[in-house]
Amino acid sequence: MRILVTAGPTREFFDPVRFISNRSSGKMGFAIAACAAARGHAVTLVAGPVTLSTPAGVARVDVVSAREMLSATQAHLPDCDALVMCAAVADWRPKAVSAVKLKKSAPHSAVLELEPNPDILTTLRPLKGARLFVGFAAETGDPLAEARRKLEAKNLDLMVANDVSLPDAGFEVDTNRVVLVTHDGPAQPLPLLTKREVASHIIQWIEQARPKKR
Ligand code: C5P
Repeated sequence: MRILVTAGPTREFFDPVRFISNRSSGKMGFAIAACAAARGHAVTLVAGPVTLSTPAGVARVDVVSAREMLSATQAHLPDCDALVMCAAVADWRPKAVSAVKLKKSAPHSAVLELEPNPDILTTLRPLKGARLFVGFAAETGDPLAEARRKLEAKNLDLMVANDVSLPDAGFEVDTNRVVLVTHDGPAQPLPLLTKREVASHIIQWIEQARPKKR
């Protein structure tokens, strides 16, 4: 299969040296890309700014902002059978971007006006066709309820929900504790696993789901 994976955060600049972003390290998405390539799939990885090396056999496209991630993902979508949106896309970007570094000025407080970024999964939804779409729901509240809501709202085939408030799950760490949520059947909680092991569950789910979509 041809699998398109997004990973990492995005950066939204408001002057040449400053940006807003989030805690995503890219580890989960890179683990998915590595696992998929090791299992013989053709993998394209759209990566936000991270400090990870490209997994063997993976074609990598580097992007910075959410809008760049949208155009790279859209450009590669026609050539994939499954899209795994693992990236932690910044929901907002600064409304104005200064060409020069902003100066500190009295009284040392500043207001940054933000505007929403496009939702990549929602934007690509009309182009989905028979492709499998997998999303991630990183929550600090009730991950399962939010995952079910987003599975429907974004027309996904699989939602991987995780509670990012737990110390051994979510951002930066090498382990994750997720629940797989689909349209049919009960939610499937996985035990505490390495991100590579979680990746293996996700890729195997894609492999078994693909023939049913044809
Ligand atoms: O709504 P929320 O951002 O929590 O949904 C998470 C899922 O949506 C993830 O799969 C993420 O990659 C994707 N997403 C997106 N475009 C955005 C924000 C999130 O595709 N602008």
